[in-house]
Amino acid sequence: MVTLASGTILTGLGVGLNAVRGEVFRVKPQATLPGPAKHAGDAAGEKETLRGAIHHVAGYLDELSVKAGETSAEIFEALKMLLEDEDLFETAIAEIESGWNAATAFIVAVDSLDAIFAGDAAFEERLVDLKDLARRVAAHISGIHMGLDLPTTGSYVIVGDDFSPADTAQFTDAVVGVVTIKGGPTSHTAIICRSRSIPALVCCPQAVDLVDGMQVLVDPVGDRVVVGGDASMATKAISFVAKSLDPIIPVRANIGSLEDSIQAATTAANGVGLFRTELLYLSETTMPPATKQAKSYAEILKAAPEGPIVVRTIDAGSDKPVPFLDMPHEENPALGIRGFRLIQDHRQFLIDQLESLEVARKETGREVWVMAPMIATASEAIEFAELARGSGDYKVGIMVETPAIAMALADLAGKLDFISVGTNDLSQYLFAADRMNAGLGALLNPWQPALVRMLQVIASESEKAGISSGVCGESASDPAFAVVLAGLGFNSVSASRSQVGAVRSALSAVTLEQAQEVAKVALAATTADQCKSAVLDALATLA
Ligand code: PEP
Ligand code: MG
Repeated sequence: MVTLASGTILTGLGVGLNAVRGEVFRVKPQATLPGPAKHAGDAAGEKETLRGAIHHVAGYLDELSVKAGETSAEIFEALKMLLEDEDLFETAIAEIESGWNAATAFIVAVDSLDAIFAGDAAFEERLVDLKDLARRVAAHISGIHMGLDLPTTGSYVIVGDDFSPADTAQFTDAVVGVVTIKGGPTSHTAIICRSRSIPALVCCPQAVDLVDGMQVLVDPVGDRVVVGGDASMATKAISFVAKSLDPIIPVRANIGSLEDSIQAATTAANGVGLFRTELLYLSETTMPPATKQAKSYAEILKAAPEGPIVVRTIDAGSDKPVPFLDMPHEENPALGIRGFRLIQDHRQFLIDQLESLEVARKETGREVWVMAPMIATASEAIEFAELARGSGDYKVGIMVETPAIAMALADLAGKLDFISVGTNDLSQYLFAADRMNAGLGALLNPWQPALVRMLQVIASESEKAGISSGVCGESASDPAFAVVLAGLGFNSVSASRSQVGAVRSALSAVTLEQAQEVAKVALAATTADQCKSAVLDALATLA
């Protein structure tokens, strides 16, 4: 470890628009649990102890789910379901019967899943979370406290490798800033900090040298942390002065639940640009009947902000396993059966979804657009369009998330009403950089010139094909990037709810011609850093 002098600058990827100064608080390594041990002969008592401890940790997940709100509640529900799985409990009971105490038995039972799910990358991610929960169960049995132990008063910048959903839900009011060594622009930490307006720097390897007690400035606009820095050193976020009441292109909101829809309606969002329907199902073990689906869609449509509502059909698979869809275990699930490819084995579910959405559309009278995720060929897009048009009165589109479909848009003239670019996945597939790999954040930076140039191709090819185009990936939540998107020719953007206001301000402060000039600056850049700083400079001269 090196000692960092005052004034040292650590670089990474900034999240947010405001700089903040605080004292470094390094998240401590978790407490050590007692090693494996046998019980004293009371197997029945051990079983009771285990049930009680699982119940306790499940209750803790419930609390986290309530606190997390918006983006993460479904994640906790899915984890709770894994934790309370009866087969897992039975495996642990067998271990207790062979002599192990409750804590050891549960850890052994969870570890035994390793062999069963080896090679299934999506489940391996969940297994990491489940192992964390098994440690919590064991800790509860041994009377050990396992929280992050974050301070509750003062102003702290917390520093860690990366933060899981369970970690971020424990952030207290004293957490004014966050720095992670790993993680990228679409990591859980980034998404949560963005939605809670906590300034953050992710993907900052040099943060390993930050130690407790140092004062630091987290300067997200400058993509840096300044050791010993103060507010006067903060890179100024451009203060956009509105030139018009309305943004040059509509700004919609991304939602995944009824709560999100209600919250989005409190913003000035022009409708919903991405309703991630799979988030409703992350913890469902049985297929939700069409009537239940229609009811939940109707509630969400009714609550949504005024304007069109773009609903994405289920995007299960890879990072979003949905329990009731029996999905094959794959070596490389991000490149496997996910999104629209589910039609191979689950065609009926897709039809049910489109038909129940039509019931909800009729009931609410809302304007609904539907789109399919993970489309790779024009034939898939056409197959979806036919299915959707046969199921309801929708505008029909697809997500552009693969380089392959970006190169086939000309073949879709007259077939689609709109496309929406998912830059999170498009970056993953363009750069061959797993979006779940916390070490590859720099490649997933939306300011990468190759992404910007691919976006230009998508916007212009869509326009030539007479297809309306939008962007709903996380990149559209960055106000400066949203100006670039408008300048490239996109017809709308859809942002995380907390960013709708900032993105609207940016898009109300420039004319379309100015946005086009800014886009040219972005297209001329050769590195991500240069692209971002050139665009910010160009915007600063306009402000
Ligand atoms: C995307 O890939 O950019 C997107 C919006 O979809 P998701 O993040 O849900 O995969
Ligand atoms: Mg996607």
